[in-house]
Parts: sequence; C-alpha cells; structure tokens
Amino acid sequence: MIVGGGFCGLSAALHLAEKGREVVLLEARFPGWGASGRNGGQIVPGFRCDPDEVLEAFGPERGELLVRAAGEAPSLVFSLVERHDIDCDLRRTGWIHAGAGVAGLAKTRQRAAQWQRRGAPIELLDETTFRERTGAEGYAGGYLDRRGGRLNPVAYLQGLVRAAEAAGARIFSETPVQRVSASGRGWEAASANGSVTAPRLLLCTNAYSDRLWPRLRRSIVPVESTVIATAPIPPSLRPTILPEGQPVADTRRLISWFCVDGSGRLVLGGRNYRKLLSGGTWALDQRLRTIFPSLAEVPITHRWSGKVAITLDHLPHIHEPEPGVLAALGFNGRGVAMSTLLGRTLAARILGEEESGMPLATTPIREVPLHPLRFAGITAAVQFKRFRDWLD
Ligand SMILES: Cc1cc2nc3c(=O)[nH]c(=O)nc-3n(C[C@H](O)[C@H](O)[C@H](O)COP(=O)(O)OP(=O)(O)OC[C@H]3O[C@@H](n4cnc5c(N)ncnc54)[C@H](O)[C@@H]3O)c2cc1C
Repeated sequence: MIVGGGFCGLSAALHLAEKGREVVLLEARFPGWGASGRNGGQIVPGFRCDPDEVLEAFGPERGELLVRAAGEAPSLVFSLVERHDIDCDLRRTGWIHAGAGVAGLAKTRQRAAQWQRRGAPIELLDETTFRERTGAEGYAGGYLDRRGGRLNPVAYLQGLVRAAEAAGARIFSETPVQRVSASGRGWEAASANGSVTAPRLLLCTNAYSDRLWPRLRRSIVPVESTVIATAPIPPSLRPTILPEGQPVADTRRLISWFCVDGSGRLVLGGRNYRKLLSGGTWALDQRLRTIFPSLAEVPITHRWSGKVAITLDHLPHIHEPEPGVLAALGFNGRGVAMSTLLGRTLAARILGEEESGMPLATTPIREVPLHPLRFAGITAAVQFKRFRDWLD
C-alpha cells in the first residue's frame, strides 16, 4: 500500500506491480496534485550538493556509489518513457548549470571539475557561449551536463499512472489517508471512504507530508516555489532564447530556473518570489525581465506555485520508522529524476532485490530543530540568502 500519488509513489507502484505484487495507491486529491504536477520538468543529474561533499559525508566508497547513482538518475526517467511509450515531449538535450556572478561561476567550475574527474559528459561554457546557448543576461558562464534533459511533467506523470494501472496497480484519488495503524496483518490506512490493510506501507508524500506521520513531516522544511509562464515566444525571438532547448538552473541561494516548454513558452521559477513590488510588479516577473529583456512585451499568462521539501543536508532520505513502513522524501527541488529513482529503490527494498538504484542507507528520522518556528526561520533565511546573493 502506497500513500501519495507523485513520481515517487507512482514509480514504486509501477515497479512493484510489474513484479506481480498487489498494489493499492491512495492519493489525497489526484495523481500529480503535489509537486509532481507543478514542476518545471527539468531532469537534473546529481544531488543538490557537490559530489565531493557527498564523499565527505559518506566516505570515499559509499559516497562514490551515491554520486554515481545520482548522476545516472535521469537515465531511469529516459528508460521508463521509452519502455512505456510515454508521450511527454522528452528532450535529451542536457541541462545547464548557470553561474550567477563571479562566485557563482567559481561554484560551477568547481562542480564541473568534480564531475569531469568522474568522466561525466560536461562542457564548460564561458560568458559568450553561455549567452549564445541561452540568450539569458546576467550570468558569468556555467556548464552543460549532457546527462540531463526536460519533459512535460504532467504528461510524464499521466504516463506513469497508465503504466502502473496497466501492470495491475489500483490507484484511488480523493482518498486522504487520515490515520495509519499497525494491525495483525500489517498496516491499516483509514480514510473517510473506508480502510485498506496491507503487509507493507510506503509513505511517498514529500513536501506535502501532513499529520499522518508527524515526525516525517517535521524532518523536512517545505519551501514554496513560484512559477510563471509567458505566452508562446514570438517566432522572431525564438532562435535567440534557449535555441537548443536545454533547461537552466542557476547557482543563486534563492535559485532561479528557466526553460522553454513544448508550446514555446518561457517558463521561469524561483524560491520565494511571491512578493508584489512597489509599482505593482511581481518580483518573479521582474526577474524574468532582467534575465530576458527581449521578452519585456511578451505577456505572462500563467502563474502557480508548489512546495519543495528541503533537508538540512540537502540529500534525500529513506526511513523505516516502524517495521513494514518505508518512506522516501527530501528531494530538495530535484525530484523529477530523483523521486522516480527512489520510488524504484523503495520497491526494490520490498521485493528484497539487489539494488541497482540509490544505495542510500535507511536512517532514523531526524526532526528539523525548532520545526514549529520554520515559517519565521524561512523568512529570516530568505532575507539572509537574498543579501548574500546580492553580495555575490
Ligand atoms: C514549482 C516546483 C518546481 C519544481 N521543478 C523541478 C524541476 O524542474 N526538476 C526537478 O527535478 N524537480 C523539480 N521540483 C521538485 C519535484 O517536483 C519534486 O521533488 C517531486 O515531484 C516530488 O515527488 P513526490 O512523489 O515525492 O511528491 P509529490 O509529487 O509532492 O506527491 C506527494 C503526494 O502525496 C499526497 N499526500 C500527502 N499526504 C497524503 C495523505 N495523508 N493521504 C493521501 N495522499 C497524501 C499529496 O496529495 C501529493 O499528491 C519542483 C517542485 C516545485 C514545487
């Protein structure tokens, strides 16, 4: 039994059902209602932190395995799309990491060197080549990682739903699980519609974790990410803006990311950009005009937001809070590939398979200190990060 119908829960459902397991997935609203239906579709290789930081935390042997698995995470998405014939506008163009300012460029150079030492297909971009490839202003360069890409996240999610159901998984929408408890036959999940009992329970609720398992919810900080999309870019400007279709994310502490979607719209997102500035312009709209001045006259037609689950070590976590219960969460805004991979990892652990997925150890749940004060903490952290971004 799985709670949560995003990439993680659906990937677990698909991989379990394909191996002949009986699977029931319970989703509070509808599949994709959480972050999986709201994201930018960027398929990003690696964790949010540098490869060498992972080695510092886990030691050279396990660290290297984790780095390799995270770097290869996009390939699982590519193979699922291909195997299940998912029509989701998949582009295997690579992914660009953009250096904001001198400090940002140094960060990208450092990370690129660490990946290159491991044989990753990385291409350094100086300021000129970066501008040619992106059309974006205000960046000092960066690198192109050929392992990444982009897709339409909702179409990918719907494809996973279809594939999981075709393999035999049963998916129930509008079923918020209100309580889970140990029962003689495993775990019982109760919702207003009734209850389900199963030998194993997977919690795949990430930033949308509610009071169902309070300690899990307190192990991450949910941070709002805001997105805007323009009307389709006029044909005269289209060759100047991301002409090869790579998605981009920058090194700022309050990250900005952007891409052009399948209908030719510029989609731009960032953390904590909900603010209305004096003069009545939204902060994110101003960011768009700063990065792409040539789009000043192109109207912004869509706005939305969603929650990203941040962990203190910037790594995802797998927990087994009780025998028979597994949870994976903390994708730190890089969940398209990573949550798909961890869904498969959870399935592999239930099946008792030798893992080819993410060799993350199961760790005890660690609550974020002073979690009830997180909103005040986030506000203070945002101001501090904005100041440091400005200094950079
Ligand atoms: C605006 C935005 C942009 C992003 N852009 C990118 C990007 O470009 N690239 C990238 O790699 N990542 C991106 N991310 C992150 C990525 O979307 C997430 O990491 C990923 O979707 C997490 O998937 P998930 O299945 O773990 O969780 P979710 O998709 O959030 O699914 C959790 C589900 O659990 C359900 N749920 C919660 N509690 C209960 C309950 N009690 N009963 C039943 N159901 C419950 C919720 O309704 C929800 O649907 C972005 C995120 C946001 C918000």
